[in-house]
Order: sequence, then C-alpha cells, then structure tokens
Amino acid sequence: MLKLYVSQLTMLRSSISQNIRKFGANAPSSIKCSRLEGKIAIVTASTEGIGFSIAKRLAQEGAKVMISSRKETNVKRAVEELKSEGLQVDGTVCHVGKAEDRKNLFEKTKTNFGGLDILVSNAAVSPAVGSVLDSSEELWDKIFDINVKCTYLLMKESLPFLKSSKSPSIVIISSIAGYQPFDLLGVYSISKTALLGLIKATAVDLAHRGIRVNGIAPGIIKTKFAKPLYETEEGDSISKSQSMMHRLGMPDEIGGVAAFLASDDASYITGETIIASGGTNARL
Ligand code: NAP
Repeated sequence: MLKLYVSQLTMLRSSISQNIRKFGANAPSSIKCSRLEGKIAIVTASTEGIGFSIAKRLAQEGAKVMISSRKETNVKRAVEELKSEGLQVDGTVCHVGKAEDRKNLFEKTKTNFGGLDILVSNAAVSPAVGSVLDSSEELWDKIFDINVKCTYLLMKESLPFLKSSKSPSIVIISSIAGYQPFDLLGVYSISKTALLGLIKATAVDLAHRGIRVNGIAPGIIKTKFAKPLYETEEGDSISKSQSMMHRLGMPDEIGGVAAFLASDDASYITGETIIASGGTNARL
C-alpha cells in the first residue's frame, strides 16, 4: 500500500515539474501588433525594470514614448537603447515628486510629439523594510507622497493634455502586495492598496470625459526593486512557491498587459486592475 502511495506521489511530482517547464516556456517573444500606431505615451520611472519594458512595448506597438526617471544618465542610456532598436522615443528627467519636473514632462511631450494619449504611472518607492506597526511617520509620508499623491497629481496634470486625444487612457502600476500585503513591506503594500481605490474613484470621475483608467498589479517580477525577494536561494524558493506557475515574472510580461489596457482593444474596460502574478492568490 505504502509502495503504491510513494509511486503515485513520484508520478504526480514529475507531472507537476513537466507542467512548470511548459509554463516557463510561454514567455512572450516577437511583437506582431501595432495597436498603438499614432498614439503618444508617457511612462514614468521608465529607464529600467517594469517601466522600461512598458515603454519598449508601447513603442514596439507604434506609440511615440517619452521616457523618464530621476537620473539623466539613466534617461540617456534607456533612450539610446530603444532608439537603436528603431523605436520612436525621447527622454527627460522627471522625479515624480518634483512639480517642476512633472510640468516639464508634459510640456516636453507636447512640444516634441504633439500631444498625449496614454499616461502610465509606474514610479514607486519602498525605502525601508519593516512591519506596519514599526514604521515611522517619515516612512509613511515618503511612501504615500511618491506612490499615491504623486500618482494622483500626475493624473490630474495630464488631463489638459489628454482632453485632445481621441482615445485617452491612464494605466497605474499597483502590485499584488496591494491585495495581500508583503510581511516586511507593510506601508508600501498599503500604498498599493490605496492605488486600487484611486483607480476605481478616478475611473468614475473620468468616464464622462472618455478617459479610461485601469491598473496592473504585478506579482514578483525580476527587477532590481524586487531583488531582496529573490537574491538568496531561500527567498527565491519562497517567492516562486507563491505563484501557481512556480516562477517569477519578467518585466516584458507586464509590458504586454499595459499595451493591451492602453489600446482600443480595451475600449470597454475602465476602473479595473489586471493581476499579472502567475496565479498568486489575490483577494481583497
Ligand atoms: P526598478 O527595476 O527598480 O526600476 C525603478 C525605476 O524607477 C528606475 O527607472 C528608476 O530610475 C525609477 N525611479 C525611482 N524613483 C523614481 C522617482 N521618484 N521618480 C521617477 N522615477 C523614479 O523597479 P520595478 O520593479 O520595475 O518597479 C516599477 C513599479 O512596479 C513600481 O511601481 C513597483 O511598485 C511596481 N511593482 C514591482 C514589482 C516587482 O516585483 N518588481 C511587483 C509589483 C509592483 P532612476 O533611479 O533614474 O530614478
């Protein structure tokens, strides 16, 4: 009896690992859509990681994209890399917490590209590790300022530019942590839950102006930001075990979701957040 059980367990394990290999092979390869031809996009915090992949994908689908982040060297490197692939991009420094930088971001996009159709708000910070009840007031202020208030300000400041667009759309990057808080990223997680509310509330307000507002909640994605979650063997194994697919996501797997939400394929979708987390459990 025990022998039969062990053999059944071995078969089950082998079938699971074959399926995991199949899932792993499904990552996107070449882009054949041109859904964003003629559109103009801003992606904040887009010189690396998820923002860079979103900017690249929007440009690959035909959009003209304004790249931005805090450091000029990063902006130059990202713009050069995307231009070398024949993509229509430009760049400017924009720390999302600085009003002057945000103003310049919108004005430069209008001057250089002629308008604005898509705003992707991607910048966020998580400067310290710790549980919610151990967090300082300064930490709350910093995280809520950048992750929530600046997202709202960017949205509000984009409206005069988006009003001339035929199909305006805003995409906000939240997180799986907004649904199920990460143990040691308590305040960051709460800020990402707040974005889910911001998406819903502003979608209602902006629907009558024809502006769609949606969000993406990525699971753990292999970027510098998430490195503490996968750099040790133990962390990597715990992080992978949370996803049904038993692997971490790649930044390009978020780029495609953003392109869909920004495109006319999503013309009847607003106020929603798409969870792209390899099946990680998420329930508010
Ligand atoms: P990342 O790879 O570390 O990239 C961060 C980018 O943000 C860089 O381009 C950085 O460039 C820029 N940046 C940082 N602070 C900024 C600010 N105040 N203003 C403007 N740009 C700023 O990070 P990521 O993992 O791609 O994260 C991007 C977004 O995805 C964040 O909203 C994050 O919360 C969300 N997210 C990430 C994961 C994940 O597992 N990676 C999961 C869920 C959600 P500079 O240094 O030049 O400013």
